[in-house]
Amino acid sequence: MSRDSTRQLSPNFKVREFACKGSDVVLLDDELVVLLQCIREHFGKPVYITSGYRTAAHNAAVGGSKSSQHLLGRAADFYVEGMDVATVAAYAETLLPARGGIGRYPKDAAHPKRRTGWVHIDTRAGKSRWKM
Ligand SMILES: [Zn+2]
Repeated sequence: MSRDSTRQLSPNFKVREFACKGSDVVLLDDELVVLLQCIREHFGKPVYITSGYRTAAHNAAVGGSKSSQHLLGRAADFYVEGMDVATVAAYAETLLPARGGIGRYPKDAAHPKRRTGWVHIDTRAGKSRWKM
């Protein structure tokens, strides 16, 4: 991070957007950046990454699973300005039809305290889908 935080990974993303607070090391999968750039271009709106790479300590602090793809730098939680979770997740599905992880975390009646909804995306070899 001290060396590369402002390095441009793709037209719309920098290394620091994927960093874990307090860690100088960032693990980051190239394909994940490509997927997020596709999403950015498809909607033509800013994509805000709320969680990218997580150290084991940070992952435990936020209650993440021990096998979380965030620990490997293969996952991002994000939202797209002005777009709902279902729409963003449906487009992500077209990018990862047969593999990868897609999680939906809508702000809805069951989750009124969320500031925004968000989508989790990861580049795992298998296919996993969930809604929480
Ligand atoms: Zn996630």
